[in-house]
Amino acid sequence: MSAIELYARKTAGFEERLAHAVQVLRDAAERHPGAIVQSTSLGAEDMVVTDLIARHALPIAIATLDTGKLHAETLALIPAIEARYGRTVEVFRPVDADVIHFVRENGDDAMYRSVALRKACCAMRKLEPLARMLAGRSAWVTGLRREQSNQRGAVPFSECDDQGRAKINPLADWSWADVWHYIATHQVPHNPLHDQFMPSIGCAPCTRAIAVGEDFRSGRWWWEDESAKECGLHVSQSSDVSQGNAGPSQVSLTPAGGGLGTSQPWGHPDLGASHP
Ligand code: SF4
Repeated sequence: MSAIELYARKTAGFEERLAHAVQVLRDAAERHPGAIVQSTSLGAEDMVVTDLIARHALPIAIATLDTGKLHAETLALIPAIEARYGRTVEVFRPVDADVIHFVRENGDDAMYRSVALRKACCAMRKLEPLARMLAGRSAWVTGLRREQSNQRGAVPFSECDDQGRAKINPLADWSWADVWHYIATHQVPHNPLHDQFMPSIGCAPCTRAIAVGEDFRSGRWWWEDESAKECGLHVSQSSDVSQGNAGPSQVSLTPAGGGLGTSQPWGHPDLGASHP
């Protein structure tokens, strides 16, 4: 069964939630002219947001992170968006030297060995490029929904991140059925991996299909304790990078061997996106 067949369902209040999401985006675009970006993970929710931005001709830039570990199916959505909507997708990648050094020091499968190493990998491949994406911008748009996890259960439509930027979550009150109803109705391009029981798609080594009845995010970092399952993109510094099974001394990130700790050259990690 496809994801649309499995999940798409129109439920009471959908039209109101849709109209509200558009209004949230429109208001944000007006408040941050030329300084607002959608940080898309290319997941189902973010594809809906991109469609809304394009459909309503909203002046919001579209950008994504290519961590170097994404599935080919995920990367294929970048040209698909550009072809469908005529909008450029800005792509931000990790620094080559950092990746080479990290892999040389910690191995290509470091993420499985400790939470600290996994978060160091996320910091290098996601947080640092995200900081560059958001530099000079005062607002960013995500596809976060309250339903996605307990940690996201109180996501507001608009909030202020730790850098003072506006963080806009237009789909905060949408259900998974809403997302797929919208995708089905508007034939929004989406990742075919969603049709293979991967509702939440991140980097290939850190994503697997889920079984019927499992939590949607259980296919992410499945070897970790539930409380650790964020990449730092949506978690404040005090509850994120300092967590882990291994100490900072076990993590080597920068060519200078500075480790992770609290000395990331790009500053505070709580800059995140809907990037899974
Ligand atoms: S999700 Fe996995 S591969 Fe991707 S940046 Fe995080 S640890 Fe690295």
